[in-house]
Amino acid sequence: MKTIKDVFLNFHQQLDGLYGQQEAEAITLLVLSQVTDLSHAKIKAFPEDDVPPEAIEKLPLILNELKTGKPVQYVLGSAEFYGLTFLVNPAVLIPRPETEELVEWVLSSQRLKVESEKPLSVLDIGTGSGCIAISLKKNLKHARVSAIDISSEALNTAKKNAVINEAEVNFIEADILQIQPGLAPDDLDIIISNPPYVTMDDKAKMHINVNDFEPHTALFVPEHDPLIFYKAIADYAVNKLVDGGLLYFEINESYGQQTVDMLNDKKFINIELRRDMSGRDRMIKAEYIRG
Ligand code: GLN
Repeated sequence: MKTIKDVFLNFHQQLDGLYGQQEAEAITLLVLSQVTDLSHAKIKAFPEDDVPPEAIEKLPLILNELKTGKPVQYVLGSAEFYGLTFLVNPAVLIPRPETEELVEWVLSSQRLKVESEKPLSVLDIGTGSGCIAISLKKNLKHARVSAIDISSEALNTAKKNAVINEAEVNFIEADILQIQPGLAPDDLDIIISNPPYVTMDDKAKMHINVNDFEPHTALFVPEHDPLIFYKAIADYAVNKLVDGGLLYFEINESYGQQTVDMLNDKKFINIELRRDMSGRDRMIKAEYIRG
């Protein structure tokens, strides 16, 4: 029998070279927790407990996949986001903590706490795994949530995630750059999006396990038009938002001011730019008033 402590040490040491010790330990914790079905807290609290042989048997295969640089969430097939578990695979971007901050921003809006007679209507554009739409639905029970994605494979995953998390979301397959007006509901209170925003410049600096494994359609934008999705979504929002409706974006930190200016030109008001936990310009909120 091997103890948790021994298995943990042996596993992360084999990844230290690739990831650095801190990240290797974090990955190891995720892996051990999944193969043993023990919580992170239990794994940390009982290092002398034995790991069952059937759990140990699963480790070499997982280790080999991790050594190729494949993100641990794809290896394990799931990721945590906003306290929920989401299935992930290479058709969807792995949910990021920055995006949790965006969800948090929406949910902290005082306005949403006022229950009105009309249910709140929310649209997530480029939903991927469904993480934004589903966490919003879980936390805004009275809302009607719809979500668009261009990828049918992503939508299949998002639909499974909605079932697993018991959240009712209306999924729509469409390309926001050429969407038919009737596909999504009208009179939306909130439009939210984390569209592709990585430029070729950023790509060069990107970690291999993002670039080699995550879906490029969810990540990259053409260098000559880095705001292409933001402009299309803002135009769409002008037609779809109710009076006083809100638009929330996750953004590329290098284009904060440009995105604010673009929204200004399109007559959005009360535009707020916010930083993420790393101090980078990462999200924008704006309001649309019908004149
Ligand atoms: N934040 C992601 C990354 O840096 C990019 C997400 C996106 O393009 N919307 O990998």
